[in-house]
Amino acid sequence: MKACVLVAPKTYEVKDIEVPELKDGQVLLRVLTAAICVNDVRDYQGENKFSYPHIGGHEYCAVVEKIGPNVNENLIHVGDHVINYIIDDCGICDDCKHGHENICSEFMNGLNYNNPDGYSGFYGFAEYAVADARDLYVYPKETPSDVASLTEPLACVINSIQRTPIKMGDDVVVLGGGVMGLLHVICAKKQGARVIVSEVNPERAAVARQLGADVTINPMESDVVEQIKDLTNGRGANVVFNTTAIPSVAAQAIEMTAKSGYCNIFSSIHPNKPIEVDAGRLHKAEIYVTGTQNGTKESFRRAIDCISKGIVDLKPVISRTYAPEDIVEALDFAASPESYKVLIEFSK
Ligand SMILES: [Zn+2]
Ligand SMILES: [Zn+2]
Repeated sequence: MKACVLVAPKTYEVKDIEVPELKDGQVLLRVLTAAICVNDVRDYQGENKFSYPHIGGHEYCAVVEKIGPNVNENLIHVGDHVINYIIDDCGICDDCKHGHENICSEFMNGLNYNNPDGYSGFYGFAEYAVADARDLYVYPKETPSDVASLTEPLACVINSIQRTPIKMGDDVVVLGGGVMGLLHVICAKKQGARVIVSEVNPERAAVARQLGADVTINPMESDVVEQIKDLTNGRGANVVFNTTAIPSVAAQAIEMTAKSGYCNIFSSIHPNKPIEVDAGRLHKAEIYVTGTQNGTKESFRRAIDCISKGIVDLKPVISRTYAPEDIVEALDFAASPESYKVLIEFSK
């Protein structure tokens, strides 16, 4: 099978490799479309840790090609369109037992990150991938594979949105107008909020407005916390989502949160420099500060429902689709500020 293999930092090879064997409870998936995540770009640039050779691509949709031993064939059939819950949750640790499988303490200890005997990775950047049947979600066949491949990022955003109690008429601030910021805009609008997006790049701000942002502000023009206070009668925003990796922006996110408001640190922070927080204000203003990582099993299901029922339209965040042979070009484009989601199509 064809696979895009990262053999060393900044070195991709498109190779012909063996189709993986199926073990108990597993199915073979033929990948339709894979989306490039910012983490795939970081993987390519050598910023993340895993064993080489590596086959990336955790945002993909696929067709069930073959069913292995001991799979419940009442629920999974050859030809089903599916999404794989890509968090390798152990099911045993305290986090899993408390229903927080998305932050399982073991999820980075499996073969996805370290495989001494073969390829590490999620296999979305290959023609075929193997999945545990219990991790699959079946998609309606009518859903186009380009939007279906965006289930994982939407699931992360739904997990973020549902962490906060957005109410009709609330002011919601989204810091950053990249793909994850735009997905927050789309979802927060569905909850009845006035959505304010802070974005430096005027073209990106215009796209945020097209996708529903009521107001966009430029954080370089003047102090962003003051701009939010001016727009909200001095109260700040009821709910703030930080989708940027910048530590100082995470600090501003907390500062611009209104009394009894919620601030979610959605993005991972790079470099992860500690920030200063006014603990006295958190106390007096009863502010909730939280974070979210990954999608939960439930938010994946909800993302599939939102996409397949047409509740959200993700077509506008898709910039371009590439062939597997052009993965390096695709990654370079994905890293540029002109692009949103960049896809790789493996089969139809
Ligand atoms: Zn991702
Ligand atoms: Zn676990």
